[in-house]
Amino acid sequence: MPKIPECDRCLLYSHNPHIICAVHPDGVDGDSCLDFREDPNAQIEKLWQPEGATYYNGELILQPRQRWTLEEQLELLDWHPLFTGKCPQCGAEYERDYISRVHWDCPNSECGWMDDSV
Ligand SMILES: [Zn+2]
Repeated sequence: MPKIPECDRCLLYSHNPHIICAVHPDGVDGDSCLDFREDPNAQIEKLWQPEGATYYNGELILQPRQRWTLEEQLELLDWHPLFTGKCPQCGAEYERDYISRVHWDCPNSECGWMDDSV
């Protein structure tokens, strides 16, 4: 049954294993179809998802591992350079712009501390 990739998002596609569609029950020759009509609803299945998150019932859900418990947050306050401005391993101070940082690797190249917690 020569279904083409476009069939999956075509308004005419029958979603029936034995029939391609009403217009071309036996499929089409080649890899394009003159009667292809894009189904606007078919794209919902391809929603963009940020890393670590999933769409569930149309809502964006963060995966559990990205959520911090209150205890974990309080613990971070004590040692993480995001809050202290200092390397937890050697105490080296981060640049003043550390608030906007994404990576928290130690500025002291001899220390080598790397952040893998956030
Ligand atoms: Zn360090």
